[in-house]
Formats: sequence, structure tokens, C-alpha cells
Amino acid sequence: MALPQGFIEELHEKNDIVEIVSSHVELKRFGRLFRALCPFHSEKTASFTVYPDTQSFYCFGCGVGGDVITFVMKQENFDYMSAVRFLSERAGLMIPDDDGDDESHRRRKIYDANKTAARFFYASLNSDEGRDARGYLRKRRLSDSTIKRFGIGYAPPGWRNLYETMLSQGYSEQVLMYSGLCGKGKKGAYDIFRNRIIFPIIDLSGNVAGFGGRSMGEGAKYINTSETSVFRKRRNLYALNIARKSSERSMILVEGYMDVISLHQEGLDNAIATLGTAITPEQARIISKYSDEVVLAYDTDGAGKSATNKAISVFRKIGIPTRIPDLSGSKDPDEFIREHGVENFKIRISKSGSSIDYELSKARENNPVELDSGVAFLREATAIISSSDMKAEREIYAGKLSEEFNVDKNTIMTMIERAGRRRYKRDSEEMVFKASDIKKRFDFSSSMKMQLGSVASEQRLISLFFLNPDLVKEYSEELEENFFKSKHVSEIYEELKKAVESGNFFGIGSLSGRISEGAMNMLTKSISEPELVNFSREDVEFYIERIRTFNNKLDFNDVIEMDSNELRDHLESKRNEVKDRNE
Ligand SMILES: [Zn+2]
Repeated sequence: MALPQGFIEELHEKNDIVEIVSSHVELKRFGRLFRALCPFHSEKTASFTVYPDTQSFYCFGCGVGGDVITFVMKQENFDYMSAVRFLSERAGLMIPDDDGDDESHRRRKIYDANKTAARFFYASLNSDEGRDARGYLRKRRLSDSTIKRFGIGYAPPGWRNLYETMLSQGYSEQVLMYSGLCGKGKKGAYDIFRNRIIFPIIDLSGNVAGFGGRSMGEGAKYINTSETSVFRKRRNLYALNIARKSSERSMILVEGYMDVISLHQEGLDNAIATLGTAITPEQARIISKYSDEVVLAYDTDGAGKSATNKAISVFRKIGIPTRIPDLSGSKDPDEFIREHGVENFKIRISKSGSSIDYELSKARENNPVELDSGVAFLREATAIISSSDMKAEREIYAGKLSEEFNVDKNTIMTMIERAGRRRYKRDSEEMVFKASDIKKRFDFSSSMKMQLGSVASEQRLISLFFLNPDLVKEYSEELEENFFKSKHVSEIYEELKKAVESGNFFGIGSLSGRISEGAMNMLTKSISEPELVNFSREDVEFYIERIRTFNNKLDFNDVIEMDSNELRDHLESKRNEVKDRNE
């Protein structure tokens, strides 16, 4: 980012993180810090923590952390510049002119090029060339006003229609390349979208982020804009810009553009789709901001069924209930509505069961009762029911099964609880890493310190550097090149050094937007460790030596028992050995 650091510093001074966060969640004070239920994942006990001292936040539940800008980015689903703009307006600050060549400038250029391209596609659809495409859309029963509302267009056949048009309007070839509208081959530049119906993908700020194209001839049936600075398939959702304003507090997740559009045309303005990929946790989190429940209406084929199963588990992890309507007999929601009408579709939704009902009916199909009077089914069913967090819900299902199979309800509840424990054990095995982390946090003693791995040592050292920037000046000469091996730590170190050396360091905000999301999460977590407050110079030396030990690949067992003096001597002798060998 090319914004002057002085401005970013002022932005942080005028936007206190406690104030900003507390306008979104209810903060409770605990000594020097604040806690709240995390706005980014669903939880019952508060693990989202705000640190006024470092003006940072970190969630011990989902591992997300950052400064006030990061918080606004996540909370509002903004990019970096939009968050800066938001906070500037709030504080009454003027954003200094952006540098001509920076990332936000590039993003604006892409948005601008996309908008012009969308106009070109829309005009092409309504020209002579677009006759077949119009015929196709009419056959799919899309009205003119729907076509207009979604900005549907057409990319004519031929290799350079868009390219020539955009160039004649003053766009550079470079912009066409990095916006993903054109590619470059042996014969020069060419249009990515050719002979395709075009669906512009609008982001939450109302900008055209990218395009989806449906083939009217050869080639893959659907293609999307490749990943650009403004278009991320794992983040963007089709029609979310409209659906988030729906009066419904649920969303209907479907597979494709045409499903979304025909549902909207029928008045279901809460339909959305992913862009040709399975739903990601990130997308699920975005959806959870605008809805309390998700209806999964994927295609009814095998691929659709397995996508449904995946989506159920993604949403379950973030605590959003799902419902799955039965559309069997039709291939997708679009076809269902064409054959049975929208009212029947709505009825199917209102009658649809929870994800547990859905999984139970699958289990029923997979385990025919005739074979073993239901034993296999009961085993699978109790495992499914155990995924419910609500005891009352588990009881209801247990009651139903008890009646159906004439088995004592308590027996079934016992099976459910046992399955729940197995699930818990499996989940907690996946969490071992996290648990050991927490242990480190709470009983950190010198013997534990001796067992710190290289990554933990690097994290502690970088945290001490961050909290005491004078140390960076003091030690930067001494640390050899590529001293830090962890990607995140070395990234932080480089930016930290730059900021400190140029006199621009003012805390977490001076790294915001300069280090990756992963590095930011790691840093905000590390600096929240309470024992970092009372550090001594010996600690710094200890961590440096420890990292060197790992870097020099010495035998861990040899050095584990040494104190720092012995360690230093040992290292010295090892170094001399190496020198001798080389001479
Ligand atoms: Zn969280």
C-alpha cells in the first residue's frame, strides 16, 4: 500500500479498537483486556479478545487476529482500501492521494475495465450477433427485465472483439491482461470469453468483480474470470449483492447462475451460488452474516448430493443450520420450478427437514432394514443425531427411532451419547495441536521453555521484537540472513525492520496491509502471551541461540539439557569445526 505511514498512524489514533469493536459486539472488561463472543465464528463462551495496549484483537477459538483495519475488513467484508476509507470517514480524515502504481490503483482500474466490458457484453446481446443468445435466454424463460437486472450479456465469437473495442476506448493492453478479460498467446492478445452468454459477478460494494460465461458452442460449458486482485472464487458469491438485502433471514444456495436467476425471477431474491466450486468456510462465514439458516438446493445428481454433504458439514462447523428440500425427479431447482411452479418449490422448502433428517434418509437408503432388522441403520442414525448440539433435538429423534424400531428410548440415547463421545474424541485428536498451544500459554515454565521448537522460538522472538522495537535495531546486525525459517515470522521481521529503520513504527497498525493474513493472525496471537511482559535480555539471547541451534541442525538431544552459556560454547565449537573442515 502506498498510503503514507503518518496517515495510517493517525487513522489508528483516531479509531480506538475497543470503540470500533464494541459497536459490533458486547465487550466485557477483564483487567487490561476485553472479551466477547466472537463475531467471526459461532461460540458459547467468549474467546474473542481485544487488547487495548497493543490495539489488537485475537480469537482463541478460530485463530483470527489483527488490528482495527483488519477487524473492519472482516466485519464488513471489505478490502483493505475500503476499510481505510470507512475508518477515515468515521474519523473525519482525508485520505492522501494514492500513489499511481499501487494495488488499490490497480483494483480501481480492473473495476473500471470490468464495467466497460459488461456494457460491451450487454450491448452485444442486444445486437444482431446476439440473436442466438437471446433465443437461448428466452427458451430458459428469462424476461427482459431479469436480463437487465442481472446485466446478462453476450461475448461474440471471434478472438479480439472486446480487445479491439476496449483499446479504442483508451484501455491499455496491460489492464486487459491483469483484469483477466484477455489473455496472450503466440499470435498476441485474445479475448477470454468468446461465443458465450456472460453473467457479471457483482461484489458487495456494487463493483463488477468478474464474469461467468456459458458456452454457446465449443469449449467448457462454464468458465469464470481467473483469479485477479478483485476476484477470488473462494470468496465471491453470485447474487449475494442482491440476496443480502432480501427480507428473508435465510438463503437458498444453488449450483449455478441460471438457477439463481430463475429463482430471483420467481420472487425468491435470497438465492445465491458459489462460482463453480464447493462452498468454502470463508464463503459460509460471509453467508452467516446475512442469514440464520441456509437452504441447500443443489442439483439432484451424484455430484450435487456429495456437494450437499460437504456443505452440511461446512455450515455445521460455523453453527448455521441447513435444510435440504426434496427435489427428486427434477435435475435442478430451475427445472423443478419450470415443471412444478414456484409455489410447489416453496412448499418443498417449508416441508424440508433439517440436515439431520436429510442424512437420516440417506442412511436409510444405504442400510436396508430388511437385511438386519435395522441394526446397521440405527448405528449410523445415532452417529448422525449425535452431531446435534441440542439435547432436546437429540431426544426427539431418539423418541422417533424408539417408536419406529420398538427399542427402548434410553438404549437409543445411550447409543447417541456413545457416538457423541467418539465424535468428540475424533475432533479433539484433530485439536491436539491447539490444546498443546494452550498448555504452552498457561504453564510456561523454564523446563517447557527448553522444549520449545524452532517455530515457537521464532514466534516468541518476533513478539519480543515487536513489543520492544529498539531490540530490532540492536540485533538486526547480528542476525544472519534468512535467520527466521518460518514463512510468517520472516515476513513479519522484514516489514518490522523496514518500519523501525525508517522511523515509521507505531505498533500493529504499521504492519496492517503489509503482512499476509496468516502472519497477522500469528502475530496477534503471539503478542497476547502474558509472559512476554516480563522478559529479560537473557530471554532474547536464549531464543536467538535456540533458533540458531535449529538452523544449524545440531542434534537436538545433545543440546536440550544445556543452559544458554553451554549452548553458546557448544555452538562456537561447532562453528569452528565447520570452519576447519572448509579450510
Ligand atoms: Zn472466533
